[in-house]
Amino acid sequence: MKTKDIMARLQAKYPGESEYLQAVQEVLESIEEVYNQHPEFERAKIVERMVEPDRIFTFRVTWVDDQGEVQTNTGYRIQFNSAIGPYKGGLRFHRAVTPSMLKFLGFEQTFKNALTTLPMGGAKGGSDFDPKGKTDAEIMRFCQAFMLELWQCIGPDQDIPAGDVGVGGREIGFLYGMYKKLAREYNTGVLTGKGSTWGGSILRPEATGFGALYFTQNLLHHAGKDIKGCKVAVSGFGNVAWGACIKALELGAKVVAISGPDGVCAMPEGITKEMIDYMLVMRASNRDRVEDMATRFPGQAFFTAGKKAWSVPCDIALPCAFQNELSEDDAKELKANGCWCCCEVSNMGCQPGAIHFFQHNGILFAPGKAVNAGGVATSGLEMTQNAEHISWSGKEVDEKLHFIMKSIHEQCVKFGTQPDGSVDYVKGANIAGFMKVAQAMLEQGTI
Ligand code: GLU
Repeated sequence: MKTKDIMARLQAKYPGESEYLQAVQEVLESIEEVYNQHPEFERAKIVERMVEPDRIFTFRVTWVDDQGEVQTNTGYRIQFNSAIGPYKGGLRFHRAVTPSMLKFLGFEQTFKNALTTLPMGGAKGGSDFDPKGKTDAEIMRFCQAFMLELWQCIGPDQDIPAGDVGVGGREIGFLYGMYKKLAREYNTGVLTGKGSTWGGSILRPEATGFGALYFTQNLLHHAGKDIKGCKVAVSGFGNVAWGACIKALELGAKVVAISGPDGVCAMPEGITKEMIDYMLVMRASNRDRVEDMATRFPGQAFFTAGKKAWSVPCDIALPCAFQNELSEDDAKELKANGCWCCCEVSNMGCQPGAIHFFQHNGILFAPGKAVNAGGVATSGLEMTQNAEHISWSGKEVDEKLHFIMKSIHEQCVKFGTQPDGSVDYVKGANIAGFMKVAQAMLEQGTI
């Protein structure tokens, strides 16, 4: 297999699908050497099959807004790979959603899910619906209309959606309510991220952020460092950033920045518990503005319009918002300001130039598919609880999440340790995830 040849073919076939092509390129580059040591993979055309989704559902979603006007959006579900388990992955509601974005996310999800140690295939879905400025009633009507189309594509042993950007507990509630009405079954295993009184797992809302911090702890420990007293810059203020802030604070770090599409909020004395709680209010307001934090906490949070979290001096950078949110220039600014570690929490949050810069300038870096896998892993734990019709305590879930993040870190070290003893986490995560999926595909024949 030659990455160059496969990429040339995909570029010709899918021109303009830049996020998808970027995600495939990153994985292929890092697995090429190992892949070519396995002629059985080449014979079965594993890579050629793996880069194509199993199937894509596209549907129109029509709903009525509060003014009585008819609105039309496009919905998607991409079932990417089911070699090691049923399709599993979130739904993203964002105005910029395209098939390319969801293909990249579904592709990444396949490897991420393989790393979790749990039997889950990869999928992603969503819509170009923009939750910004929408009322709760509008969000409910949109979710109901979306599920009206989606419900026949999903099932607890078939495809299990969850949240992602723009889809949190509120949206999962509306989606599940409609699913239940259509299917006439109380089938909790069909969605994850549910409310804790109706089949949701304790700690699922926190899990992506908590897992990211557990991974960061493992990485720092391996490098002989400690998170206590470190200054942390976080981008975003949604569910993932919220969980990351809670755990960072708990572990003795100081969160000095959060950000939004409007700019950055610097907090020189560190974020407080009260401010973290306020992030939930900001998310529920659908305003999508981080400035609201500075308005609510004057003298503690200072807003600068148009700036990113990476402009605030820190030790550790945690991108928690959107793909490609951290550029090479941002990476340079971070280094110039003293940053020495970046754990990518968002999916593909760093641009290739930024990753390259980190790796060649002695900055510890780990990719999203390893760092943020605690979210989907806890979804996997929610599926297990649903299948057994039981619910575990927070302590039980947290112990399992700890174990999973430790094991993901171990897999990265196993496959990513370089001759000089350093760890290439990008390579480690990609090879570990790939080997598991590739082996399963091989054993299941040419399908
Ligand atoms: N959207 C999350 C992710 O990117 C969670 C997916 C899930 O829980 O299924 O992994």
